[in-house]
This record gives sequence, C-alpha cells and structure tokens, in this order.
Amino acid sequence: MYSDRLIIKTASDNTNMQENELKIMTPGPTQVADNVRKARSYITTNPDLDERFYDFYKETCDKISKLIHTRNNTYILGGEGILGLEAACASLTEPGDRVLVIDNGIFGKGFADFVSLYEGEPVLYTTDYHKPVNVNDLKEYLDKDSDFKYATLVHSDTPSGILNPVEELCPLLKSYGIMTVVDSVTGMFADELDVDKSQIDIVCGGSQKAISAPPGLTIVSVSDDAIDAMESRKVPIRSFYANLLTFKSYYKDKWFPYTMPISDIYGLRTAIDNIEADTNHLYRHKTIAVAVRKALVKAGLSLYLEEGFASSVTVFNVPEGLTDKEILDTMKEQYHVMIAGCFDILAGKVIRIGHMGNNANVEDVADTLDALTKTLESLGFDCKSNMKDVFMQELENL
Ligand SMILES: *Cc1c(COP(=O)(O)O)cnc(C)c1O
Repeated sequence: MYSDRLIIKTASDNTNMQENELKIMTPGPTQVADNVRKARSYITTNPDLDERFYDFYKETCDKISKLIHTRNNTYILGGEGILGLEAACASLTEPGDRVLVIDNGIFGKGFADFVSLYEGEPVLYTTDYHKPVNVNDLKEYLDKDSDFKYATLVHSDTPSGILNPVEELCPLLKSYGIMTVVDSVTGMFADELDVDKSQIDIVCGGSQKAISAPPGLTIVSVSDDAIDAMESRKVPIRSFYANLLTFKSYYKDKWFPYTMPISDIYGLRTAIDNIEADTNHLYRHKTIAVAVRKALVKAGLSLYLEEGFASSVTVFNVPEGLTDKEILDTMKEQYHVMIAGCFDILAGKVIRIGHMGNNANVEDVADTLDALTKTLESLGFDCKSNMKDVFMQELENL
C-alpha cells in the first residue's frame, strides 16, 4: 500500500476516494463529478410504468437538443457510443445502398464495417490522417460522384485528436442530396456543435467523453429527413435494439422498446445540468487545449497532427528511443496519473492526454504535465522546459 500522502486527489471531489486511486486523464472515460455519482444512487422507480419517468427522460433529451442547437428529436439509448453509430447505420442502410464513408481517422474508417454489416456498399473517401477534411476537395469529388444515400463522418476522431469542420462539410453534402451521420461522441460538448446550422441528419454522442458521466449511454439526434428515409425503406430495419424508429412515439405511447437504465439516465441528467450551468465550458476546453499544445511543443515533443486540433485531446508522437508502455507505466506507477496510448494503426506510436469534460480543469492538467515532464526526464528524454510551468504561464498571459 502507498502512504496516504502519495495519493493524488481529484479537484472536484475527494470523498469516497479509494486508496491507489488514479487521476484519470484519458480521452474517455473521463472523470465523473461528485453530484453525477450521487444522482446515480437516487431511489429508482419503474421506468416502464411510471409516467413521471417519461417526462424526466423527455426533459433530459430536450435539454440536450437545446445544447447542441437542434429542433430534431434526441433520444438516449442504453448502450455505449458504438451503439449510436451502429443504430444510425442499421436504421438507414438498405441492401445495395451506396454510402460515402469519409475517412481521415480510425473511427472514420470504422463506419465502413457498419455499412457492410447491413449490406450497404461503403465507398471510402480517404484523406490525410494529419489534417481535417478539406471542403473544397470534397466538393471536387462530389462533382464527379454524388450518388450516395448518406455519408458518415467523425466530428472529432479521438485516436488522432482531429477536428473536422462538420459545419462546412455537412451542408455541402446535403446540397448534393446526401444525408449525414456524424460521430460526435468526443466532439459533443468539447468543441462547438450546431446541429441545425450544420444540417446534420443523425448525430451521435456518448456519456463517457466530454459529458463526463460514466460509460453506458449513447445520445442520438435524428432529423425528419432521416426518419422519412427509415419509414420509406423497402426492407425492414434488420435490428430491433439498433432500430431508431422504435423510439419515435415513446412519449405519446408511454412505451420504450426496452427498459431504460434509469440510474444511468439520472447520472446523465445531472452531468447535462452541470454543462448547462457552466457558461465557460467550451472556452475552457479550447484554452486548456491550446496551452497544452504550446507546453508540449516547447518541451521538444512533436504533435501527431499538422492542423485541425480538437479541444478534447492532445496527441503526441512517442519520442524516439522510448516506448509508449514505459511512459504510461511510469505515469501510473510513480505519479498515479492515467493517460492513454492508442490502438489500430496508431498503436505504440502516440500518447494521448484527454482534457475533456471534468478532466478539463487547470489543476489536473497542470499536475499531468508536471508528471509527464518528470516521467520523460527519468526515461532519458531531455525536456527543454517543464511543461507545467509553460502551461501555467500560457494561462496567466491570457
Ligand atoms: C469513444 C468514441 C466512440 C464510442 O466508443 P465506445 O467505446 O462505445 O464508448 C465512438 N467514436 C469516437 C470518435 C469516440 O471517441
């Protein structure tokens, strides 16, 4: 056992802290606030039979709609972010449908699997993984081929930390009659998202990223055009759990397609209330992200991306001669801070610091950068400056 004095407490709460608790600075799941954890312990009712729960659920969905600037209906589904992505593809894809899969990241490319699973024909539009998708290049492509039922794209692709300009890309696609499915699981509430202005047909969010509730829920907002497309299918949606149409009349009929995870939804509601009350939410994310990048670059680390940085996560290349594992292990064992490596094509190549949701607080980010500086130095990498000092200086210069 460590001595008590070695245990780092989170800024938001240190009650109920277990020994050996780690400071979670990963790009999801993120830290969960005290009041969100408490809300998950409220006395529960029968969410299928108690009409008050339908009001509570609807109010929560309406609050989310307002925060992401849409008049579309929003639904909360019991299942992680991946469920939202699959449900969008399951509900829209008919056998033989051509779907444009916009691929400049791991999650972007991953949509092709869902499209294929439901017997659509994914057509990959692959661009540089180090930069956002360029709207003019996409237009040039669409001028040659725009025969797609819908397109998939990722707002903020977490493995690389890229931020795509959905507010430009989605209206362009729509002008060619192509609906859009946007994965904003990490983007939502970390970077700006205006669903109606961007004319997004289906947008997916998740509880465990910038919302800072524990994993378990996905949020899906669905346009009338998307509902029309689902209702005019020639063949039925080949899923029940991932069928978005089953939610359409839940409020009128007082019927959910399956029993709602009520405690998860109590927690989510409090997390959404926290975001609603926090008027500097996006400003704080952006400012912290900018200062983290400055600190890393000044220390001599290199960022994975060339441009188009999301405010949710910073991704840097593992310095030559070091491994991701030794960096992550030292951070965890010596400093009790958990940051993340990556997977798929980026496995072993990059390290990710998640500074979204409750992680986006100055104290924890500063502690993380201090620990990272000391970790890298102890492994033989010569940091040109202490990253915490540069980070704090940046914030003080604002
Ligand atoms: C986290 C994440 C998801 C969902 O993954 P889950 O493991 O289901 O939470 C989807 N897309 C992106 C971009 C994500 O960051």
